[in-house]
Formats: sequence, structure tokens, C-alpha cells
Amino acid sequence: MASARERPILIAGGGIGGLAAALGIAQKGFRSILLEKASALGEIGAGIQLGPNAFHAFDYLGVGEAARGMAVYIDQLRLMDALTAQEITHVDLGDAFRVRFGNPYAVVHRGDLHGVFLKACRNSDLIDLRVSSEVVGYDQDGNSVTARLADGEGVTGSLLVGADGLWSNVRKQVIADGRPRVSGHTTYRSVIPTEEMPEDLRWNAATLWAGPKCHIVHYPLSGWKVFNLVVTCHNDAPEPVAGKPVSEDEVMQGFAHVHERAQAIISHGRNWKLWVLCDRDPAEHWVDGRVALLGDAAHPMLQYFAQGACQAMEDAVCLSHMLSQHPDDYATALENYRAQRFPRTARVQLLSRAIGEHIYHPAGDHARLRNAIMSAKTSEDYYDDLAWLYGGTGLAG
Ligand SMILES: Cc1cc2nc3c(=O)[nH]c(=O)nc-3n(C[C@H](O)[C@H](O)[C@H](O)COP(=O)(O)OP(=O)(O)OC[C@H]3O[C@@H](n4cnc5c(N)ncnc54)[C@H](O)[C@@H]3O)c2cc1C
Repeated sequence: MASARERPILIAGGGIGGLAAALGIAQKGFRSILLEKASALGEIGAGIQLGPNAFHAFDYLGVGEAARGMAVYIDQLRLMDALTAQEITHVDLGDAFRVRFGNPYAVVHRGDLHGVFLKACRNSDLIDLRVSSEVVGYDQDGNSVTARLADGEGVTGSLLVGADGLWSNVRKQVIADGRPRVSGHTTYRSVIPTEEMPEDLRWNAATLWAGPKCHIVHYPLSGWKVFNLVVTCHNDAPEPVAGKPVSEDEVMQGFAHVHERAQAIISHGRNWKLWVLCDRDPAEHWVDGRVALLGDAAHPMLQYFAQGACQAMEDAVCLSHMLSQHPDDYATALENYRAQRFPRTARVQLLSRAIGEHIYHPAGDHARLRNAIMSAKTSEDYYDDLAWLYGGTGLAG
């Protein structure tokens, strides 16, 4: 079997998943060429939540200290009823949580997190970052794989990692399972200066206001300079949309029925942008010969577990670990990677949908049941519920 060290490993996509993969495999001594479609490497200006499992991955990938320096360490995950403006429950994220999972829960600006990975990749002699390089497909034989680019160029390597996101071209060839599923959930994002956030809501928490077919999330970012606002309504939007600017009036339309305190949060948003969320059913077939999928290309999920990027980083940990274990047998390395990552990511994909349905968006009796069940739990109960996820490193389970 040809060694994955003979030629560089190709990575399609320079999002958090692709950069994490480049870094992970560089640490195991593999060269890579990262091919990014956009003309510059970057991330959208919004926030991201990071469970302790993300910090396990940062440490493995050698960026633990830099990533920790960018994060805001929140005290609680807080669940509010958007109809009554009463707290339903909260999960303490203090010492007991950190001791239990060996790491904190935090929130971070996406650009800052992407920047941590980008800097580390730029500092590595083993990583070649190329922009304006859209991968449209691949050809492979017994010795190599060639990524075909949109401009007609071919780039040849030992393996190809498809980290090219929700609309992955690599996945089109590996699985050929059509377009992602449109969830019908519309998300609007805004980032506002902290002084524009109502003072009585400047909580050091990731706060979720859950209402019938809608919810609001907010948390501080970037050393408390700004607040991230994400509001979502389940309005059966039929078509995928990404990053379309919208007016505040349009955002407010899905929130006419919630408490005025929850509505007021929206009125503070500026420069709202809209996404119609998509995901997929879990699909086991992530590997085609010398080609493997990673991150959203492999397991796109709704954001309700706040785990898509965390799982992409865990993928990077697992892939680099398997390649280092089987450097001369890529088929075993890729199959072990797939076999280990599929059950865990499938569980997160399916639970993300379930959380949306049963925690974020219920109405009437369903919402009352949610409130009764969730308010009866202690933080320790939630730690037990989440142990399978937050205790994970990406290498098992
Ligand atoms: C509203 C919302 C909130 C979220 N909140 C969280 C959260 O709190 N915590 C969390 O962990 N996750 C969260 N996520 C999920 C997270 O954003 C994604 O799972 C994660 O960014 C996926 O990373 P990726 O690198 O796999 O894909 P992407 O970030 O999509 O990166 C793919 C990259 O590939 C490039 N590309 C695309 N096609 C090609 C091609 N053909 N050739 C070359 N390059 C290509 C793209 O330009 C892009 O740079 C959220 C998602 C949403 C929508």
C-alpha cells in the first residue's frame, strides 16, 4: 500500500475543519496542500460556542493556549421561556463543570478562532495554503489522487480530504446523495457593541429564549466588546439562503408572539443577515479510495447542539491520529477514521434536530412539559446527560 507521506495530502476547504485537519496532519509529519475556493481565507463575523470537547481538540492540535486566549468563559447556559420571560433552568459552567470535563465551556468570535488556526498553519513549513482554488471533482488511481480545480488545473496528492462544507463538491462524488435537507428554520445573525445590549441582559451566559416555533440566543464575545445575537424562527422557508442582509422589521415578523422583553433584544440588532438552515441525515459512506470527508461535508447538522465546528475539529484530531498510526496503509487509516467518527457525529446530527424540536421550539403542552422536565434537573443531572459528548476527545465513542 502506498504511503500517505510520498505526496502531499490535499485538503479541499479552508474553514475551521480544513485548517484543523492541515494542522493535525502537519503535526504528524505529513505535508498538505489546502485548496480554498474563496479569494481569501476567513470566517463570517459571528460567534461560536465551544464545549469542553473543543478544548481537548485545541490541545491535541497544538493551539490550546492561543485558542484559550480568544475565548470568553461564560458562567452558565441559561434557558428562558420566551413567552413569560422567566428562567426555566440553567447549567452552571463553573469549577464543578471544569473539573468534571477537564476543560471549560466558552464562546469565541469565529474570525478569532479561524485566525488562531490560520496563523498556526502559516507557521508550518508542511502546509501550503492556496486560495481561489475551487475543487470541482477528483480522479484517482492506484498511486495518487488528483483534485480537479474550476480553472482546469489538476493538483495531485496522496489523499484528498473533502472539508468543503455543506455544499461540498467532494461529497457529490463520494456519496452523490443530492442536495442538503432544507430545515425550514430561518436564522438571523447580528453582532452589537456591548453598550447597546440592555444592561439587565448583559449576562455572562449563553442565553436561550425558547418560544413557539422561534428562539433567541445571545452571549458576550471578544473580551466583552460585543454581544452575539442569533434569532431563529421555524417559518418553513423552502429554499436555502446564506448571509442575505435583511431589515429589523423582517426579523421581528417571526417574534410578534413572544414577551416584550425578548422582543426588545431584537430591536437592538443591527445589520441583520439571514440564513435558511440545512442539514442531512447521517450517511455512513465517507470514504472513496483515497478520498475522505470531514466536518460539514461529512455530517452537516443544525446548530442546536452548538457542535458543528467542535465535531469538525474532533474529526481533524481523529484523522491525523489514524494517519500517524497507519502511515503506510492509508486504506486502514481512512476506514478507522470513518468507523470511529461516524457513530458519534451521527448521534450529534440527530440530537441537534431533536433539541430544536423538543427544547428550542415547542408550544402549548409540549412547552409546559419541557419546562417541567428541565426545571426539575440540577446542573449535575445535565453534566451526566452531556458526559458522552463533553468528555470526548474525538478519538473514541
Ligand atoms: C447559525 C449557526 C450557528 C452555529 N453555531 C455553532 C456553535 O455554536 N458551535 C459549533 O461548534 N458549531 C456551530 N455551528 C456550526 C459550524 O459553523 C460549522 O459546523 C463549521 O463551521 C463547519 O466547518 P467546516 O470547515 O466543515 O465547513 P465551512 O465552515 O463551511 O468551511 C468550508 C470551506 O470550504 C470552502 N469551500 C467550499 N466549497 C469548496 C470547494 N469546492 N473547493 C474548495 N473550497 C471550498 C468554503 O469557502 C469554506 O472556506 C453553527 C452553524 C450555524 C449555521
